[in-house]
Amino acid sequence: MIGLFTNRKREKLRATPAPGEWLTILERNFPIFRRLSAEDRRELLGHVQVFLAEKHFEGCGGLELTDEIRVTLAAQACLLLLHRDTDYYPNLTSVLVYPTGYVADDTRYLGGGLWEEGPEDRLGHTAHNLRALVLAWDAARHGAMHPGDGENVVLHEFAHQLDFENRSADGTPELETRAEYLSWARVMSAEFERLRRSIPYDYDAVLDIYGAQNPTEFFAVATEAFFERPRALRKKHGELYEALMRFFRQDPATFSAEDEAE
Ligand SMILES: [Zn+2]
Repeated sequence: MIGLFTNRKREKLRATPAPGEWLTILERNFPIFRRLSAEDRRELLGHVQVFLAEKHFEGCGGLELTDEIRVTLAAQACLLLLHRDTDYYPNLTSVLVYPTGYVADDTRYLGGGLWEEGPEDRLGHTAHNLRALVLAWDAARHGAMHPGDGENVVLHEFAHQLDFENRSADGTPELETRAEYLSWARVMSAEFERLRRSIPYDYDAVLDIYGAQNPTEFFAVATEAFFERPRALRKKHGELYEALMRFFRQDPATFSAEDEAE
């Protein structure tokens, strides 16, 4: 339940015109922004105002935060909120930004059906109950600037945050009805199994094999593909595309940049 006071404050923030500099930053760094309808661009900028007012940003590893960093990250995070009732990632307090990838323990896919646990160059991270989300600025900027390559660390990590909103990290975000949960479970488990079965061949044309680890990673990887390679996803994984379209209330195939990447 969102309080009346919070709601009013957010409405006021959403109605505040974005500084011209933000538009210059987004036109340059985030080609998806250019491709959205005028109405969606306005909605996105309103969400960015709320996001930047409510979340604490921290530069790590010597990184000095700038408006370019804050706005480029916030706009990608808020793309996932368009057209939906949102409480702006309520489980998240802080966004920690490193200049570049940092080493942490992670699971890595080696190929041939093998996974390895160990130190890994990581580009982003968040976890249930952590209240923080960590990003490498160079990777986040690259992801924003190349919207058709299927990889976007910001969309990936914020999809995890949406997953946490229904209490558990299980690859299922908050849905409205029991029928939607049933339909989601049916489609997602079938598509997850399909990706797992593709492991011996090390190949899925659209979905990153990293998503075969567990349903949580599957949802994050599917979200990246949904926004970055929507036409390919719709063609190869039609039911998955439709399930994500119902949840996100968007049809990214209409603003896809994937042709430019091919
Ligand atoms: Zn992940």
